[in-house]
Amino acid sequence: MEAFDAKRTMVIKGIGVSPGIVVGKAYLFDRFDTQVPLYHLNSKTAVAQEVKRFKAALKATEIQLQELKTKLRDLGGLEPLYIIDVHIMILKDRRFIEKTVENIHAQAVNAEWALRITIDKYREIFEKMEEDYLRGRIADIQFVGQGILRNLAGKKRQTAREIGEAVILVAKELSPADTAQIKIDKFLGFATDFGGKTSHTAIVAQSMGIPAVVGLEKITKEVKTNDDLIVDGSSGVVIINPDPEILRRYEGKKKHYLDLKAISIGEASLAAITQDNYRIEIGGNIEFTEEIPSALEHGADNIGLYRTEFIYINREQLPTEEEHFAHYRSIVGVPGLAWTTIRTFDLGGEKFFSDPKLGREMNPQMGLRAIRFCLKEIELFKVQLRAIAKASYFGKTRLLFPMISGLEEIRQAKQVFYEVRDQLAADGIPVGNDIEIGIMIEVPAAVVIADALAKEVDFFSIGTNDLIQYALAIDRVNERVTYLYEPLHPAVLRLVTQVVKIGHAAGIRVAMCGEMAAEPNYAMILLGLELDELSMTPSAIPRIKRIIRGSTLEESKKLLKKVMTFSLASETRDYVEAYMRERFPAEFLINGNS
Ligand code: PEP
Ligand code: MG
Repeated sequence: MEAFDAKRTMVIKGIGVSPGIVVGKAYLFDRFDTQVPLYHLNSKTAVAQEVKRFKAALKATEIQLQELKTKLRDLGGLEPLYIIDVHIMILKDRRFIEKTVENIHAQAVNAEWALRITIDKYREIFEKMEEDYLRGRIADIQFVGQGILRNLAGKKRQTAREIGEAVILVAKELSPADTAQIKIDKFLGFATDFGGKTSHTAIVAQSMGIPAVVGLEKITKEVKTNDDLIVDGSSGVVIINPDPEILRRYEGKKKHYLDLKAISIGEASLAAITQDNYRIEIGGNIEFTEEIPSALEHGADNIGLYRTEFIYINREQLPTEEEHFAHYRSIVGVPGLAWTTIRTFDLGGEKFFSDPKLGREMNPQMGLRAIRFCLKEIELFKVQLRAIAKASYFGKTRLLFPMISGLEEIRQAKQVFYEVRDQLAADGIPVGNDIEIGIMIEVPAAVVIADALAKEVDFFSIGTNDLIQYALAIDRVNERVTYLYEPLHPAVLRLVTQVVKIGHAAGIRVAMCGEMAAEPNYAMILLGLELDELSMTPSAIPRIKRIIRGSTLEESKKLLKKVMTFSLASETRDYVEAYMRERFPAEFLINGNS
């Protein structure tokens, strides 16, 4: 079967959502699979022992299958017994065993990894089969493989985190549950079939500062575990089994990218002040408190968005007030960060929460999400608000409510907050008295009534990820409509302009914390809008700061005025890209067609 050793170079284009270039081995993640560690064996004895370990696991799996068969026979019924016989046959298949042993020898790798390579190769062959029934048999091979893996794991307690080598994760899509389950820190980059610029995969990759390309549609079909892979998160390209020439070019590109990044980081602590002295505050968006060092290192002036829903992810029990407080306390008052913007949890939509009580929604993006959920589950909401009120005693804190679509919601949310804060104070517990309250502007209705909302709050923060989704009616995680996701759509620019104007007329600050704020091409446009703050994934900060420091407010306003005359998004995009490339040639080299 020649398919076993064929290795051809293939390029797949998707959406680059986290910049950088990585070259490494692929690891195909199957949600129903167990994670497989990779490590190299450094002596002949170790290789021989590994083969023994593999054979012992085969034996153990066979015994378990025989026991299962006996149990099922006692219960009656014929079909399952036949299936188990098929599984035992696979287990004893000479080629299956030999191929894995050969992989252990040839690559000097552990049995789990060697087995995974064999299974992936079988999968590739079976998937090409015409007959549905035969194609479906790969499930049996995977089932047997999992049994062996379990036995291997039982004998060896080491985990991927302790001994594994870092690999590139290839998956259909990563849900928050997946990222909690896998040893996320073992990955060099991500490549997924689904997802868009604001999908969970994108957010996690950005916060880890590793390259990622999503929306590749068929990457899981084309890639096998152990394939060589290049992930270029800057241009959205993934190359499978690159030939030596491509590999060499990409090693060069990677170095160039890292050099540029190093220069930017060096200057990142400087304030974002334009040549004509307009200052814009640059915040960091974080999901985990562990990201604070990265935010500081990349030059965040403050935390502009802490997505607290990540505290709830993949848990059996709800977090207690003390747990919430511990998280908030570790951010509030950190030296070097002027303030911390804590957004109350935004669960629902694409965001995951393991409470089965919530059930499934047909259209979760428009469902019981964020503030709607909080106001329904007031007690749960109060737990979080109490912790925020207590933490605000220790440093400048801003409280941010997501998905506000009407006055009632913000009034009610504020009332609940003041209630818990006053109660804490009455109980003699120290709380901050000068907490600022703001709302996310991410529902078009909030833009329309921004004048009324502005009277209720101290600041606005424009969430372009959702604002674009709702304004243009595009599901932000549906790759089929990604092509319509256009921050430069005239409707989006007009909405944003309106929010800034209304906010400033009411005397409140206006920030932007959606992904739009992180795009270097848009930096001058956002400057021209006179936004007070931009907040973004930390690794994007150095470039944005550099561009702002190299610009003037005056020219940015001119650029904005010009693009506001265009009626096509494509005109704006072409114009802005050409303008930025000419104005900042060094910044746009890596994204260019070099
Ligand atoms: C947004 O919608 O732009 C935003 C920042 O919030 P999130 O991405 O968490 O929905
Ligand atoms: Mg949002």
